[in-house]
Amino acid sequence: MKMEASALIDKIIQESKATPDELISLLTVDSRGALYAKATSVKEKIYDKNIILRGIIEFSSFCRCACTYCGLSCENIKLPRYRFTENDILKYAKEAYAAGYRSIILQSGEDFSYDADSISRIIRSIKGLGNLILTLSIGERTHEEYTQWFKDGANRYLLKHETSDEKLYNGLHPHSSFKKRMDCLLDLKSIGYQIGSGFMVGLPGQTLESLARDILLLQELSVDMAGIGIYIPHPDTPLAGLVSGSPDLAIACVALSRILLKKVHLPSTTSIETESTEKYSSLSAGANVIMKKVEPYHYRKLYEIYPNPKIFDKSILEERKELEKFVLERGLKVERTVQ
Ligand code: SF4
Repeated sequence: MKMEASALIDKIIQESKATPDELISLLTVDSRGALYAKATSVKEKIYDKNIILRGIIEFSSFCRCACTYCGLSCENIKLPRYRFTENDILKYAKEAYAAGYRSIILQSGEDFSYDADSISRIIRSIKGLGNLILTLSIGERTHEEYTQWFKDGANRYLLKHETSDEKLYNGLHPHSSFKKRMDCLLDLKSIGYQIGSGFMVGLPGQTLESLARDILLLQELSVDMAGIGIYIPHPDTPLAGLVSGSPDLAIACVALSRILLKKVHLPSTTSIETESTEKYSSLSAGANVIMKKVEPYHYRKLYEIYPNPKIFDKSILEERKELEKFVLERGLKVERTVQ
């Protein structure tokens, strides 16, 4: 006899393991209320009601890659590109720090015009601002570069696996391969980084089994953070015109990741937010992090992996205050320790 959803959730929580079929059955239940409630309870046992606010500086929209779903693909010649100087990056990091961010993510396309030493200088200058966690999200680079930046003080590296379906991955990423991505993640882990991965829900040809394997892969990699978002088509890419992924299904993946992995930072991702009517809805399903762009508005609009109408012309400080107010109004707390 098939186990009731509620009993199955308890079993996964207790054993910290699940089969693909068990995850699929929870992805397809009629009502996900019990799943979300239990994911929230697991989260609160570890993090209490604290929500971590992270500032993300998207410092270059140049990218050497041609991922078929991404508006930053080097083949999208319609997109105006920008690239910050080292001084500008430090300036925005300072503003973010002054606004209260103690976790900063440096993100860009795979832009090799920043060589290893320039990234080193940026890391050291940002880490010099005070006690903060610095995450790099700048793509596939060499072992030597990863090692150098770790020694410079970078704490985490975010490199999403995007999909655990190797054939699908290789079709979407002509510049690289699933194997290469796994090698990079394992390399980063062996160097000592806290690693972040994650995946997209709604990719063309993706199956529920593949989503279940995405969640299991996060556990296998023992990630410190996982960004689970939805695929949103960009009009100037080869995948234009397809249908966006389901925010509800992605939120269910967040909840399942929480009950399976337990201690992991799960952001309420921008892509889910873009397509949801409720604000930061995955906070009620196990997410414990909100990430906010902190570069000036003009550039936030240009860092267009997918079209996002929910980007507003506000200062870093103004947005941070709004975010804190939102968190408190939800009966949650703003995490003040450095995480
Ligand atoms: S997904 Fe990342 S690596 Fe791929 S084109 Fe976009 S920015 Fe570049």
